[in-house]
Amino acid sequence: MKYSGNLSKMKTHHGEVVEYNLDLNGANVALNSFVGEKISLTFTGDINCCNCGKQVKKSYNQGYCFPCTIKLAECDICIVRPELCHYDKGTCREPKWGEDHCLKPHVVYIANSSGLKVGITRRTQVPTRWMDQGATQALPMMEVTSRLQSGIIESTLKAYINDKTDWRKMLKGGQNTYDLKLESKNLIRQAAADLEHLEFDILEDETYSFTYPVKTYPEKVSSINIEKNPVIAQKLMGIKGQYLIFEKGVINIRSHTGYQVELEV
Ligand SMILES: [Zn+2]
Repeated sequence: MKYSGNLSKMKTHHGEVVEYNLDLNGANVALNSFVGEKISLTFTGDINCCNCGKQVKKSYNQGYCFPCTIKLAECDICIVRPELCHYDKGTCREPKWGEDHCLKPHVVYIANSSGLKVGITRRTQVPTRWMDQGATQALPMMEVTSRLQSGIIESTLKAYINDKTDWRKMLKGGQNTYDLKLESKNLIRQAAADLEHLEFDILEDETYSFTYPVKTYPEKVSSINIEKNPVIAQKLMGIKGQYLIFEKGVINIRSHTGYQVELEV
């Protein structure tokens, strides 16, 4: 079968194995069934902004044209650094968007992606956020009323635990298994003095675990530059996070949002 369209973040479903679907021009391609098969993904050379659709040579912020990165709230620095949310100062680029996305319940979690890490997400992004990250385990620790609050807690906890995923390590697989409830208790105890003046509810959730459709993990992780090598015709070895793992390299589908491709399976 042949499909064509603009790439967008793969949709995930939390099943026994994480299920991946790629929407290409309205066709829903169930990718799990092609793991172990040779597929071809070809970049046509055109990119469309995922917000305004304008054709661009280069995209920013995982899929936007430059003018859109300047005007949209979702491209503001406070999205990567939520502790810098400036809605209260009246300077949000799009206050309505802020109200719908940032002034909503958020969760501070502990996850195991390339190792233990802390992170934040909107309540409604549970458990999607963790599958996008390639986490094998995750546990919501606290709930707060806004993105700003979650960001303040996250930046407090950063002193005690990692907040980044090492994507190469994540894609190599073989992660240790942790007792996240225990790790979470230890973390909150360690940071107790710093957390004292902050407002949050401690959650009593269960740990989520995720298994990815991967046949073989790569020994060496190298990313494929689709601009230099626009045709990937290789065996698909697996899918983890937002990455397709091919025999000879990996590609992050989300960071190529808006790229026009042809997919043959
Ligand atoms: Zn645009």
